[in-house]
Amino acid sequence: MAEQIRIFDTTLRDGEQTPGVSLSPAAKLEIASKLSAVGVDVIEAGSAAASAGEREAIRMIAGAGLSAECCTYVRAVREDIDYAADAGVDSVHLVIPVSDLHMEKKLRKTREQVRQMAMEAVTYAKDRGLIVEFSGEDASRADQAFLRDIYREGIEHGADRLCFCDTVGLLTPERAREMIPPLCLAPLSIHCHDDLGFALANTVAALQAGASCAHVTVNGLGERAGNTPLEELVMSLLVLYNQPTRVRTEEIYHLSTLVSRHTGVVLPTNKAIVGEMAFTHESGIHAHGVMREPATYESVRPEMIGRKRRIVIGKHSGSTAVEAALQEMQYHADPRQIKEITRRVKDIGDSGKRVTDTDLMAIADAVLALECRPVLKLRQFTVVSGSNVIPTASVTLEVNGEEITGASTGTGPVDAALEVLRKSVADVGDIRLEEYHVDAISGGTDALVEVMVRLSRDGRIITSRGARTDIVMASVEAVIAGMNRLLRDQYEEERSKNPD
Ligand code: MN
Repeated sequence: MAEQIRIFDTTLRDGEQTPGVSLSPAAKLEIASKLSAVGVDVIEAGSAAASAGEREAIRMIAGAGLSAECCTYVRAVREDIDYAADAGVDSVHLVIPVSDLHMEKKLRKTREQVRQMAMEAVTYAKDRGLIVEFSGEDASRADQAFLRDIYREGIEHGADRLCFCDTVGLLTPERAREMIPPLCLAPLSIHCHDDLGFALANTVAALQAGASCAHVTVNGLGERAGNTPLEELVMSLLVLYNQPTRVRTEEIYHLSTLVSRHTGVVLPTNKAIVGEMAFTHESGIHAHGVMREPATYESVRPEMIGRKRRIVIGKHSGSTAVEAALQEMQYHADPRQIKEITRRVKDIGDSGKRVTDTDLMAIADAVLALECRPVLKLRQFTVVSGSNVIPTASVTLEVNGEEITGASTGTGPVDAALEVLRKSVADVGDIRLEEYHVDAISGGTDALVEVMVRLSRDGRIITSRGARTDIVMASVEAVIAGMNRLLRDQYEEERSKNPD
């Protein structure tokens, strides 16, 4: 492999072409700044021909003084190249179709016409002072002799780099090893799609065969099934091939979360590296193993990408995991009590439910016969929503015996409800809603709705659940239960310091 693999990130171009994804210029700039800070070599900021907003975003990113090279996608037409140069980018990803299928069916042009168009575009882009990454679209289905000729001619016309696009994800690692070496006439990038789940493997194979730069997207976003995921490539190169990139791996999770939030694309929980469950252990044997020695069941250390290991409790948990979870929550249970708590946890799991932190705490309170004095009590709750009103919630809470009444508006009834709760307890604790998830347990509009929330306070995270036929009340119940647990610890601590 090349001594230094370069990372070309196309989250803001191919990634934004994910169906349903559209980013504002401000969101694009925020993501670009993060990508640059994380250490990617090139940022493809967008496609200048797409829209006026897109050109504004490209201009903002190009002018932001980022350390990464700012690139934009252009077709082999003057207008695109002018847009790019006027926006002040460093480089263009100049793409021309190279398979007969694309040239004949899409472009309705002959090989000769395409070749001519391409050379004029390369020459023009160089005249306008741009670095040119000359890219063959659908290269994996092209006549490889034609492809090599057009690449060579592109370099003769001034192209600085080349790119091989496996546009529809039909490459295999075996074919990459054959195709790539004759094409390395200049620094070559590999651009893969994941239609058959081969994007990462094909990218690595191409890098081993002489490509020196990989096109990637954060979270593997991109057209259809997406592109090679940045996080998977960077970590695979490091862990499996001992090949570092310039990417600061400990920033990867933060980057992934930022992109997920801005694009609205939620990741599968089991996604490699960045999925919610990628470093979560439930099974008794596995949890026991990683607590003794993380390498037993972890190939990547969570700290390497800025994450933490999480042990969750469920029906697969053994008493060691339950004991560890209880200790973390500052419960001191004897072996007999731990056994009983473990049995009750398994009962919840067997009934098909996920065991939340508040479930575990409620069980522990019951088994240890602790007095549970809630900090918050709900006195009254009202929510108004409809076609001609701004959704508004009002609440009266008893907080440590004192009554607090408040009201808030929101984007919907649930949002208004959770906002008024947050505001009402703000004086006693800054509690943030990290995640909100709702499931209808059975079909029908009268179904029981289960709401799961993740709340955090001073870095401490807790999961909680509410189940009702009323979605707003289920949400309120889940949040109040979680808030009570987060706040109670503080009061217990204070009480033990100053016993009355
Ligand atoms: Mn693509």
